[in-house]
Amino acid sequence: MERIAAVESPFDFVASYWTIAGDARLRLRGGTDYSSLDLRERIETASASGYRGIGFHSRDLQHWSDRYAAADVRRLLDDNGIGYVELEILREWFVTGPAREESDRTRRELLAIASELPIDHIKVGSSFGPHRWPTEHIAEEFATLCAEFAQLGTRVGLEPVAVASIRTPAEALEVIDRAGAANGGLILDTPGMRELALWDADAGLEQSFADLEALASTCRFSDCRHEGEPGCAVLAAVAGGALAADRLEAWQKLEREARHLERRVDALARAEERRRWKVIGKSVGRHMEAKYGRGGS
Ligand SMILES: [Zn+2]
Repeated sequence: MERIAAVESPFDFVASYWTIAGDARLRLRGGTDYSSLDLRERIETASASGYRGIGFHSRDLQHWSDRYAAADVRRLLDDNGIGYVELEILREWFVTGPAREESDRTRRELLAIASELPIDHIKVGSSFGPHRWPTEHIAEEFATLCAEFAQLGTRVGLEPVAVASIRTPAEALEVIDRAGAANGGLILDTPGMRELALWDADAGLEQSFADLEALASTCRFSDCRHEGEPGCAVLAAVAGGALAADRLEAWQKLEREARHLERRVDALARAEERRRWKVIGKSVGRHMEAKYGRGGS
């Protein structure tokens, strides 16, 4: 008698674009966004590694379109059992001015790609501009964006990022809730989750260690790590009894956190992060049941 039925994971793993894009660098940071690794090789490698989903970047697809037309990409996905496709990325979609014009160009590119390839969801960020847009305005724009992609059977995943205008999952959820689009959901990426701790750590760093920051600014070397460098004012203060050693330790721990954040933001560009877990859908159950996906209807 079989007591336990075979268990199948309800989740398929997606090899995100930046995870498998090799040395590709973010255009925001002076790169090109596209990968020099052959598109076909990436699809085959992701499949051979057990992934059932893959991520693309619009600029990467354009870069490789000379060699791989949309029909070729579709066939490669089918041949390799890749059943889920993520497409990156739209930012500045709720702002005005030149940034919006560029965003709208990217938006048209994403729509064109989603009309030719079976894109399950696009990934959207927010804005890096200084202006704080009202949530109501962002939600309206998000609803419009979702409606455009709904026609192609594509979901829209909003990703909060610590250094952008929509910083936390809560902020993103408020936009998603207000927009009320069935194909609009949340993407949580590890940098987006880590941000929660880091945002606090950053503020805490300034508040609690102002005296140490001031002291450190008098070290001989501006990049002094206070680990034995000559002319270190911080270690001198510890040696002289003016500064408790455990306080220095606590400060250095927070500094390591801050450096870790910088590396994580860089990882967006360099795809150092190999295990990126993402959850799409405000409610995974709800969205899975909605079975909104796959074009071709
Ligand atoms: Zn120092």
